[in-house]
Amino acid sequence: MQILSDASLLREAALIDGQWISKGAGGSVVLRNPASGNILAHIPELDRAQVEQAIEAAHTAFGPWSARPPKERSTILRRWFDLIVANSDDLARLIVLEEGKPFAEAKGEVAYAASFVEWFAEEAKRVKGDVMGAPEPGRRIVTLKEPVGVCAAITPWNFPAAMITRKAAPALAAGCTMVVKPAEQTPLTAFALADLASRAGVPAGVLNVVTGDARTIGAELTANPKIRKITFTGSTEVGRILIAQSAGTIKKMSMELGGNAPFIVFDDADVDAAVAGLLATKYRNTGQACISANRVYVQDGIHDRFAAALVERVAALRVGEGFEEGVQQGPLIDEDAVAKVESHIADALARGATLATGGSRHARGGQFFEPTVLTGVTADMLVTREETFGPVAPLVRFHDEAEAIAMANDTEFGLAAYLFSRDAARIWRVAAALQSGMVGINTGLISNEIAPFGGVKQSGLGREGSIYGIDEYLELKYLAWEGA
Ligand code: ADP
Repeated sequence: MQILSDASLLREAALIDGQWISKGAGGSVVLRNPASGNILAHIPELDRAQVEQAIEAAHTAFGPWSARPPKERSTILRRWFDLIVANSDDLARLIVLEEGKPFAEAKGEVAYAASFVEWFAEEAKRVKGDVMGAPEPGRRIVTLKEPVGVCAAITPWNFPAAMITRKAAPALAAGCTMVVKPAEQTPLTAFALADLASRAGVPAGVLNVVTGDARTIGAELTANPKIRKITFTGSTEVGRILIAQSAGTIKKMSMELGGNAPFIVFDDADVDAAVAGLLATKYRNTGQACISANRVYVQDGIHDRFAAALVERVAALRVGEGFEEGVQQGPLIDEDAVAKVESHIADALARGATLATGGSRHARGGQFFEPTVLTGVTADMLVTREETFGPVAPLVRFHDEAEAIAMANDTEFGLAAYLFSRDAARIWRVAAALQSGMVGINTGLISNEIAPFGGVKQSGLGREGSIYGIDEYLELKYLAWEGA
């Protein structure tokens, strides 16, 4: 295994109340590198009682943590940010090892993850209420913002660091405490982040990390009345389960769920910019992102030029293990992911699409797949109806704006959408018509800590990052003040 500069960041233990728990009541499971299949670590399988202990710890820690002045919480978060930055090479190495993305991309993810901690360290100090005049004389309306309480975060494997900090940083800034359940494929990054949080001065019990069977942990997190909020990033299917399971205890919910992002290229677009934008959103993390373009709509007049330029760039992408020099495409996360990509391509070809490049498992074997472009794709194909979550760009030809908008909105999802055009009036019109929480205009890169991330329709509830993100962890209290 690639050596970390600080070997102590390779933890194989859950964190409950400041104690590292390497023995789960249910034993442990083997964690493997998706590029090589080699064993990386043994991860504890906690049982439900251990998860309950973590919730108790977070519950006990909530009083003192929420009572600390915001400036103190801010200072601790700022130190956490500094430590993440100082250890970014090691964190990136852990991401490459367990998730498979290229090292340069992993470094980018760590910077992105750190940016949420920096941002919410600042926002911690800006939580404020209002004072308003009441309809009656001698009265005032006062509003306060208070932390929600103990939060549970359930995170996916595709951004092992950023999906944790985007939730933990605003929660801790607001005065909440947290139990994090990272994805089973990527617990090492979560453990390392929690270790750095402890070093930064986050007190025992404020940030706990639990690992084990997802259903067992999810059942406890949703049923336990001490958890006041669930924040989840993952599939719409699991989001639905968590919402249903939380009904009994009426929790606040934030959901970042699946997407099926349309990417629309109009005749008046800059072809090079559109190709670069598609490469950025489609092939980053080998297409395994919820805001990855899933369907590419290209207008008649520009279609062939765009397709030719795209195919040239995609065919040149370097596939390999994340630590190899110049690698741009890592492996897919597991065999199921490879099978899904294969089935989507087979379905498209059977229904009349054409393979412009790629299309098969990569010659390297394992979970590597060829970066692929399909042309002649139509709305009945799986590749446009479901999230492929792999390195496949399906090109659909369209004639006019109304048709593109109708096809783009023909989905239950509404997370991200992209459009490329140089006509300002068209940009306003189309951006307004797209049913989507986020719209990339002449860019494939939309996510940063300053912007609100989130979806509409069945892509989710709530927003992460930005000046709005901390509100997800705050409750508004109203004081009706007579004689004020
Ligand atoms: P993906 O398809 O990206 O793996 P999932 O929605 O399956 O997305 O997983 C996202 C997170 O949800 C992971 O941490 C996973 O362990 C967790 N998870 C999956 N099923 C459940 C469940 N029934 N209850 C709670 N968490 C779950």
